[in-house]
Amino acid sequence: MNAPLPKSATSTAATTPYVFSQRAQKITSSIIREILKVTERPEVISFAGGLPSPETFPIEVMKDAFDAVLNTRGKAALQYGPTEGFMPLREWIAADLNAKGARVTAENILLVSGSQQALDLLGKVLINPGQPVLVETPTYLGALQAFNLFEPSYRSVASDDEGLVPDAITPELREGAAFLYALPNFQNPTGRTLHEDRRRALVQKAVDLNLLVIEDDPYGDLRYEGQPQPMLLSIAAELGCENVVRMGSFSKTLAPGLRLGYIAAPKALMNKLVQAKQATDLHTATISQMAVHQVVSSGFLTEHLPKIRALYKNQCSVMIESLREHLPAGVHFTVPEGGMFLWLTLPEGIDTMKLLDAAVAANVAFVPGAPFYANEITPNTLRLSFVTVPPEKIRAGVKVLAEVIKKAL
Ligand code: PMP
Repeated sequence: MNAPLPKSATSTAATTPYVFSQRAQKITSSIIREILKVTERPEVISFAGGLPSPETFPIEVMKDAFDAVLNTRGKAALQYGPTEGFMPLREWIAADLNAKGARVTAENILLVSGSQQALDLLGKVLINPGQPVLVETPTYLGALQAFNLFEPSYRSVASDDEGLVPDAITPELREGAAFLYALPNFQNPTGRTLHEDRRRALVQKAVDLNLLVIEDDPYGDLRYEGQPQPMLLSIAAELGCENVVRMGSFSKTLAPGLRLGYIAAPKALMNKLVQAKQATDLHTATISQMAVHQVVSSGFLTEHLPKIRALYKNQCSVMIESLREHLPAGVHFTVPEGGMFLWLTLPEGIDTMKLLDAAVAANVAFVPGAPFYANEITPNTLRLSFVTVPPEKIRAGVKVLAEVIKKAL
């Protein structure tokens, strides 16, 4: 006689021939995707998207690069490749990081299928079920989704308009934590930036508490105001420590459809990540890596990045001007130095999840702040993106949004 099936396996057997794993049962679909569905109506002015502007995609340059790769090394480009990635691109990334103060070699660079995969791999090799992970308040929703599959508990690090507060990382907070996940430049969702003194204090704190810091920086090259700040990875190099793992991406500087990002990690961690990536997808698309190498090694980014920055800077200033003109008193917003987002804090008592219905009815959309909080939610916050909306629509949309907020007061 067969052994009886475990209870959880029989519960849905009457309706489906499969039962979701306990892990899968805990996954919920991204609220942003749900919101984007509503905002796809053409009459809605959407500040909800998180996508880079397609105006910036270098279509002709990519076309030439793919052509050149297929013409000169077509067989290799269409063949399986090493898990670590295409060596010349690993070398280019290492040199680029070293020019900004890091001390890495190509051996420290793992190419990944978008930096979202970096979050998955880091979660896989570092988080045990129930283990604390330290995050900013608020933090990148996609990181919470990636880490959630490994069932961590979260501890939120106190943060203000200038990013996370290093002094809030106490020995008690650090105790048992797998790592701290940090977004130092133009953070998604708030647009805020961590300045040098806090960066230094953070890395020093990581050394003192023997804590690993994951530096997620897909927007760092999109600075259009103020002084560049040192990478956490460079500060770690200065201190001669290995407490920082950095992740970067070509999604915001070239195009997200390439699905190409990287992790810069100390050797032992790198080896473990390579094992995990091998099991996940063998390697990142060879042709994508070769084409991107063709493009970046020609120096293209030097002429391309200023164009993206100029476009985003203009749209960001139009949004800030419009917010200043129309928002009622008592609404606070961040003024980003780069990137794609800014963050509104409305007077207490307003729940932006509810406000969204009124906004969409008035044909304007945003992302409510709630899903970006790992623990205690601040319900009166929201994220606006300005990069895919042309200036005249930014003005019109902000005016409508301000009316919706006024009505809710
Ligand atoms: N980290 C942050 C902070 C992001 O905003 C994003 C993209 N929205 C990613 C990682 C993932 O980007 P990609 O996988 O395209 O590199």
